[in-house]
Amino acid sequence: LRVTGAVAQQAAKAVAGAVRIGANECWTGPFPVAAQAAFRLVQEGNRYEPDNEHQKLFDAVAAVEGIPADRIVAWPGSSDPLSRVAVAYASPTRGIVTADPTYEAIWRTGAWIGAKVTKVPLTKDYAHDVKAMLAADPNAGVYYICSPNNPTGTVTPIADIEWLANNKPRDSILVVDEAYIHWVDGPNAAKMAATRDDVLILRTFSKLFGMAGMRLGLTFASPGLMDKMMRYDGGQVTAMLPMTAVACGTASVGEAGLIKARRAEMNAAREKSVSHLKAKGIKVIPGSQANMFMVDWGRPAKDMQAALLAANVQIGRSWPIWPNVSRVSVGSIAEMEAFNAAIDKVWKA
Ligand code: PLP
Repeated sequence: LRVTGAVAQQAAKAVAGAVRIGANECWTGPFPVAAQAAFRLVQEGNRYEPDNEHQKLFDAVAAVEGIPADRIVAWPGSSDPLSRVAVAYASPTRGIVTADPTYEAIWRTGAWIGAKVTKVPLTKDYAHDVKAMLAADPNAGVYYICSPNNPTGTVTPIADIEWLANNKPRDSILVVDEAYIHWVDGPNAAKMAATRDDVLILRTFSKLFGMAGMRLGLTFASPGLMDKMMRYDGGQVTAMLPMTAVACGTASVGEAGLIKARRAEMNAAREKSVSHLKAKGIKVIPGSQANMFMVDWGRPAKDMQAALLAANVQIGRSWPIWPNVSRVSVGSIAEMEAFNAAIDKVWKA
């Protein structure tokens, strides 16, 4: 288990001088107004919580998402609550169902607790196959949907997500991981957590908000569900977050104009590289609506990853189900131009 974790982290490690488009980070940091808010809290770093910072974050998020503030909890990123919901609701007798490929953190938690993990291939449109997911394990404890999906960037329709919520066992939990939702110009699943007690929405500030190293994530769920996730430590982790990150997040969420501009710029950078690859006859998995896309090289992905690294471009990994396909994260326009140039250099049809 430890080895797998170390391998996953490898993608985030800097290779000196290389363009870093391997770890689905944002190419730039927090919005300047948010960074300033964080700095103000650095100066008050002697206090665990100088002035109701948690509540200010919950109120700001509630206003944006249209859900009650008492259904929002903040965490140091979204990885911790993702593991916790699996530990709380899956077990050796209640499995976990996910797509394949998808973000695999919950696979590792499942292995740790001895829960059966069932992986169901995506549909031909690269959405989650919700009916096949339920059929594959009708009595699972946790059904995990990642939308947009890491690594394909593809979105699963809200109607399908609702179908799974309405048809799964009542005492199981539907987890909807929306780490990349800020790149989508369309509906999200947040409001499902406003009324239902069996749905958990995960959000993170690590992606579009450029705060991966600052550590801030959110869960939207009923108070009862969240109590169950916090019973191991009495809520200590969520009660004492870095206030710099909390203030930075609060100052970020309402910046609709900045969010839209960052989304538009990165989506344009993505499409430019996708077109560049297609013009060379290289296959790209269609439909990404996030800061990543997958390239099907038709040959081992790890060889292409190494060739591009030799040309100073650090792309992402592949998934066992698709060994010829690499995930590429979207960087700045300049970084994506460097990627396109590296492709020109190393690609031999
Ligand atoms: N969920 C998804 C789908 C991710 O891709 C990631 C990180 O890449 C995470 C959760 C966890 O990120 P963090 O703990 O930084 O919020």
